[in-house]
Order: sequence, then C-alpha cells, then structure tokens
Amino acid sequence: MRQGADFHDWSNTNPNDIFSVFNDIFGGGFGGSIFDDFFGGGARTRSRAGSAMGERGSDLKISVKLALEEVAGGVEKKVKIKRQEKCQTCGGTGSKSGSAVTTCPTCGGSGELRRATRTMFGQFVNIVQCTTCGGSGKVIKEPCPACGGAGRVNGESTIKVKIPAGVAEGNYLTLRGEGNAGRRGGPNGDLIVVIEEAPHHHFKRDGDDIIYELDLSFPEAALGSEVEVPTLNGRAKLKIEPGIQSGKILRMRDKGLPHLNGYGKGDQLVTINIFTPTKLSSKEKDLLKELDRSSNIKPPSRNGASSD
Ligand SMILES: [Zn+2]
Ligand SMILES: [Zn+2]
Repeated sequence: MRQGADFHDWSNTNPNDIFSVFNDIFGGGFGGSIFDDFFGGGARTRSRAGSAMGERGSDLKISVKLALEEVAGGVEKKVKIKRQEKCQTCGGTGSKSGSAVTTCPTCGGSGELRRATRTMFGQFVNIVQCTTCGGSGKVIKEPCPACGGAGRVNGESTIKVKIPAGVAEGNYLTLRGEGNAGRRGGPNGDLIVVIEEAPHHHFKRDGDDIIYELDLSFPEAALGSEVEVPTLNGRAKLKIEPGIQSGKILRMRDKGLPHLNGYGKGDQLVTINIFTPTKLSSKEKDLLKELDRSSNIKPPSRNGASSD
C-alpha cells in the first residue's frame, strides 16, 4: 500500500493544518474578578509597565504524523510553520529607529485602567489592561514601517522537533518560545506538537506491543518450518512448530515498541492464520483428494461423527 511512502516527505505538509490556539494569557484582559485587585493583577501590571514589555505571543499547535518505525526509533522531524516573528527592522520594539517612545496618554504610563463595576454584592473596582498601549504604558510616536508598530511580522520557519521513541497518538510536546512572537518585544508563545500515528500496512499497535498476522500454508503449519516475518527493525526469523493451529499467537520478545517512560520494550505478537488456497489445478485437486482419504487429515472433533 502507498501509506508507508510519504512519511518522510515533509513537502506535503499543509500549512492549513497549522492552526493557532488563541490562549494569549493577557488577551482577555484581567478585569473579570475582584481577586485581580488582591493577587497578581496590580503587581504584574506595574512590572510590565516598568519594563515596557509587550504582550506575549499566542501559542501555535501543529500535528506531526509518524510511522510506527519512527515511533519505534524516535525521530527528529523538520516542520515548516507559519508564525509571527520578531521584526528585524525594529528589533521587535515597534518603533521606527530613533523615534521616541512616550508615556501612554490614556493610562498615564501605568498600563492599566480602573473601572468600577456594580454588582448585586456592591461596587467593585476592577483593573483592566489599557487598550491604547496594550498594558505597556508606552506609546510609539513613529511606528516601524516594516511591522506597523507591532514589533512582529508574518514569517515562516522550519523547526526541528525531536520526538522520543515510544510516543503514542495524542501525546504532545511543548516547545517553549517557538510559537508566535510577542507584540512589541513581548515573550514568544509556545509551539505545541501533537503526535498522530499513521496506519501501518501490516502492523497494528496494542500499547507497546505490535500485532502481526502471519499466513501459513497448510504444509508449513503441518510440517513446521522457519519463516521470515517483518518487524519494526527489519526482518526476523520465526520458528513454526509442526502442527501449529490457526489462531495461535506467537510472542517475539522485545520486538515491539520501547516504553516511553521507562526501560524495556513491548513484544511482537504473531497471530497464525492457515491459508486456504482458492485456485487449484486438477493435479493439486487430485493430491488433496488423496490426502483427504488419510485418517490423520480430518479434524479429530469430526472423526467418526455420523452426521458428517
Ligand atoms: Zn518593526
Ligand atoms: Zn496605556
């Protein structure tokens, strides 16, 4: 099947798969609760205003599809992402070179606005982020022409993501600071990499065990044999005892996936399936008819059953 072929080909990565998670921690303001007056809010605003820090960039989320072989060995993936990056013209400040940064006239430099809210419990004073300066307490007189004063521009980057062996569908990695650039020099958001597992053309996964279905011919099953089976680390020999039954499961120790948190590996479980031929020549039919007359060929459960 074709599925196995495309896994290493990242030119197929669709930029539309990359979507932004808008969980900017400052995005919604922080005026919602009375607790902001007691915890965090005021102090945070003061320190941010003092350092003229901009808003944190938003997080980005991408998914990476892995083949089972890549899960087995661990892999380093290069992913191309579209993201907001620090403006190189102004160095992220948003200010045209040499132009003055002045105190915000709306909030007077504090970066916050006090708002009285009337509720059924009485009146509360909430502190909200100043919308004119975005909480920085500063405004730019002449914005940088390259970024329009935001301090960040749309860009594209290729990022290396090191994925440990043994990950599973739905696991994710957080790459700190690899998300969107912050506004006006604010800290970058994070890049969240979600693991997806590509279906394999002959393996199934059960936890850290790998399940493989092996077809044997009737003579191989009856006489016993040594066959080669695929594993995640290439082909391996498997001994078939004479008289093996359909449905029997053989365990190949440590041929499964490595445990993500800890030492050791899962196993490969080989389910035996006796293949019945569907196209027979007349010579083959004659041989089978002759074989069928032998008393050892019939299943013991049906031997001597008069209804048969
Ligand atoms: Zn700029
Ligand atoms: Zn302001």
